[in-house]
Amino acid sequence: MDKVLKELVRISKIVGEDPSYIQGGGGNTSAKTDDGKYMYIKASGTALKDMSSKKGWRRVNIESVVSIIQDESISRLETYARETEVVNRLLFACDDDVADGSRPSIEAHLHSYLDTYVIHLHPSSVGAYVNAKNGKAELEKLFSDLDLPFIWVRYADPGFLLAKRISRLIKGYKKEHGRKARILFLEKHGLLVTANSGSSCLKLTQKVIARCNKGLVKPKSGCVGSVSKELIKEASVCIGKACFDVCGEYGVVAYYNSDIISWFMKNKSAAKMLKGTLTPDELLYSNGPAVWVGQLDWRKLSVSIRAILDKGEKMPVSFLVKDVGLFVTGEKKIVKMIRDVVTSILFIRVNAIKFGGLAFLNKRQKDFINKWESEAFRKSMAAGANKKCD
Ligand SMILES: [Zn+2]
Repeated sequence: MDKVLKELVRISKIVGEDPSYIQGGGGNTSAKTDDGKYMYIKASGTALKDMSSKKGWRRVNIESVVSIIQDESISRLETYARETEVVNRLLFACDDDVADGSRPSIEAHLHSYLDTYVIHLHPSSVGAYVNAKNGKAELEKLFSDLDLPFIWVRYADPGFLLAKRISRLIKGYKKEHGRKARILFLEKHGLLVTANSGSSCLKLTQKVIARCNKGLVKPKSGCVGSVSKELIKEASVCIGKACFDVCGEYGVVAYYNSDIISWFMKNKSAAKMLKGTLTPDELLYSNGPAVWVGQLDWRKLSVSIRAILDKGEKMPVSFLVKDVGLFVTGEKKIVKMIRDVVTSILFIRVNAIKFGGLAFLNKRQKDFINKWESEAFRKSMAAGANKKCD
């Protein structure tokens, strides 16, 4: 195996194992070959921890990838035609023997502008800053001792527009500072770290995440109270009935509890903090924020769900039942992934609110995500399904 690919698989597995670093099929990593011609990049929909020498990545021609961003005719296309064109062009840029139909990560083009190794994650600790109204200022304080500053990337729709914004920022940064930026914070999204070697990229990623973690509040371990089996059953039936009443389908209702879930439920502002969607991942995996259930009354819950749908939102799949825990509905193979995304965002909410308040996605931003074909593909692949979810 190419030594660059071997190193990429090694660092991807390390960062991919920790659900506080990345959840679901999100995040991506890449590494460029010594001759600068090719880049190995995670395949869309593969979990980082599942990458191996044989699967979970594609090798792309860097020149072809860069030409996508530079092509002005793509910029002029209508939004969804543009995103489809980008996905197709990324597939054309592949130069390898992979025959499983997997696609290179949709973020491949922005990786092409960065250093040899790139790690992109959605860490909960970073999320506490990038999802807060004053997050940028707080990060500037936290990283004021850096020789060279980080880049703050204002929110852009994922895909082509985000890549274009990042390529512009990187070019401007190089002009100003004479080198490529090593740390990029992406508003409402996550962290990008880049370096010349796999181990320095990994070390820097871990350092940034640890520093972000330092100033945050966390649950005490072992703070989960005991909940009776009868109560869990009662809550599960209530949610199942309410969902059946609204959409006529009975699905799996899975129950979870953890230090973070219990800690969040005890917060006086818990219900208030769930009043909007924070990140694209929250929308993609859990169809929006978890629904706060203050009392077990399936008729009342059914009315609340209908009110959510009337506002044009999607059918909720996660429910936080006060003093009981988190309930997730859906197909068996994706409920754990939804749990990980929801748990990470609960942690983010409690912390981001202290940095000037929560910066929710607006309607236009949500509409874009809902229609974004590539992301739907990512979700279905991560779930092990071979068809689109939406
Ligand atoms: Zn991302």
